[in-house]
Amino acid sequence: MLKIDKLRFGTAGMPLSTPSPNTENAIKYVRQLNLDALELEFVRNVFLKEEKAKFIGEVAKKEDVVLTAHAPYYINLNAKEEEKIKASIKRIKDSVRAVHFAKGYSVVFHPGFYFKDDPKKVYEKIKSNIKILVKELQDEGINDVWVRPETMGKPTQFGSLNEVINLSLEVENVMPCVDFAHLHARSIGKYNTKKEFEEILNLIEKNLGREGLNNMHVHFSGINYGDKGEKNHLVLKESDFNYEDWVKTIKEYKVKGVFISESPNIEEDALFIKKLYEKM
Ligand SMILES: [Zn+2]
Repeated sequence: MLKIDKLRFGTAGMPLSTPSPNTENAIKYVRQLNLDALELEFVRNVFLKEEKAKFIGEVAKKEDVVLTAHAPYYINLNAKEEEKIKASIKRIKDSVRAVHFAKGYSVVFHPGFYFKDDPKKVYEKIKSNIKILVKELQDEGINDVWVRPETMGKPTQFGSLNEVINLSLEVENVMPCVDFAHLHARSIGKYNTKKEFEEILNLIEKNLGREGLNNMHVHFSGINYGDKGEKNHLVLKESDFNYEDWVKTIKEYKVKGVFISESPNIEEDALFIKKLYEKM
């Protein structure tokens, strides 16, 4: 796994103001903006094949930008049909391969839905499917990329904080992607005080040790939510997210890793939080 020296900040996908937008220019532009991470968005398909991924990896290394990726959205490791599970596993594996060839850090994915199933059974099924995909990657010699189930914003979606932490405890090469906006929306307004932010980090440290806090992959943004959880992302300043205490807490805990802005104004909020972090 890539060793992350500090807390890095970046954007979910290319910064909106990237000149002549393509992946190479986005990496260079991230550096120009004084950010130091970029999450490749494989929303519909994994567009980076081996050769291109290697080239992109060289550019990122030169610019000192750490690469992560978001696997395609169409994934459900609790699907009823065997083909859907296979296709989901393939999408995650393709994403991990791309990041491996680009010498990046980690791959985030949305694990799936509970439907009407018992959450404990869903956990076991999703865990066994993640074990399969990690094992298949290891058999190919790919063992250097974190596989990260994300905390999800709706209570119908698998991905509570405890679930992703437990998967990280039980499966090799797995660590959580902690989406703070999702946790806030999923709990309909909780996870927004200093004490609650501390609880999250304490839980990670208790279960995953200092390694957990030294290797965090975080999504942040403002968020609009209702009684069914997440509705849509918002710009931080237009949301109720308590970012002052949040930044204070991550600084106090000396967290390291990659923090990705998913606000509608992606690079502006990434820079806003990075500056706040640096001046605190
Ligand atoms: Zn996501």
